[in-house]
Amino acid sequence: MIAFLKQHTTTAELKLLTDKLSSYGFSAYNALNGAALVLPSANSAMLEDIGIASAFEKLIDTNTPYQFASRAYKTTTTFTVNNVLVGNTHFNMVAGPCSVESEEQIFKTAAFLSKLGVKFIRGGAYKPRTSPYSFKGLGKDGLKLIHQAAKEYNLNVVTELMDLSLLDEVMAYADIVQIGSRNMSNFYLLNELGKINKPVLLKRGMQAKINEWLLAADYVLQGGNEQVILCERGIRSFDTELRNVMDIGAIALLNQLTHLPVWADPSHGTGIAQIVPPLAKAATVAGANGLIVEIHPNPAKALSDAKQAIAFDTFEQLVSQINSLVSESYSSKSQINAGAAIA
Ligand code: PEP
Ligand code: MN
Repeated sequence: MIAFLKQHTTTAELKLLTDKLSSYGFSAYNALNGAALVLPSANSAMLEDIGIASAFEKLIDTNTPYQFASRAYKTTTTFTVNNVLVGNTHFNMVAGPCSVESEEQIFKTAAFLSKLGVKFIRGGAYKPRTSPYSFKGLGKDGLKLIHQAAKEYNLNVVTELMDLSLLDEVMAYADIVQIGSRNMSNFYLLNELGKINKPVLLKRGMQAKINEWLLAADYVLQGGNEQVILCERGIRSFDTELRNVMDIGAIALLNQLTHLPVWADPSHGTGIAQIVPPLAKAATVAGANGLIVEIHPNPAKALSDAKQAIAFDTFEQLVSQINSLVSESYSSKSQINAGAAIA
């Protein structure tokens, strides 16, 4: 449960409360910069029983291990990224190369996206690569290039933060800080992201259960950063025909479990360019709030993830198909999602 403290609770009063809780065997964790306590094993009836319920401003029983990601905490999350609305009734399209490779590549991509009305460009500058002998991105030069291209074409940058030591650098160039699959369980990194004032795109760990993913989101949310987007990108399974198994069910379920926007990445989710459009559509129909898709001016020449990069013409068709799906499926989805438009 979450227990919100009354505004003028003194340190001494707080100590009395936590001592009492602890004497009854309840652990309490500070959250929201001291505005709330998380009591993982208590509920409001228990606090009534021990006579301290009225010491709090408000009590929320989440009945889930994750607290701030739960729908009991909040029914919906919407925020803006430089005037572009994210979450709830809004659908966002993000596209770009796996890696920023050159000025020509990223500027061509940015020009193309802006022509299509897409508002977000993706591109990794620090890449998590399985082999130490693969292209790992252009580093800071890559961040500068994607930032310049985005500025020129009025786009927002989505790029991955690999390590805490790069936080300031990435913050200077990113509009949305991406946490990749491999870092979803890097809890000390997530904790620091609770203190930043930029949205975090939290990709699903390739081995993560939905519950573990939502707890990872709580690491960010409990620090006070409420701008978290979840991104389904496929999980590992016994079958290796596709790079990953894209968990479409998770997208639909997350719409029930959490107020957070849920995006989908059919590129890493499938690993095969031809399978990207059908899975992009499936994710949209299942209730995704957005898509992040790898595109490349010359897919065969991509320095990373060439097999899953789609060409510009294919992406253009996909955008128009997604546009109709968004208006169709969002208008039939009750009031929660009424009036959606792709951005
Ligand atoms: C990416 O989006 O560039 C990426 C590396 O994805 P993931 O973390 O999902 O593998
Ligand atoms: Mn990639």
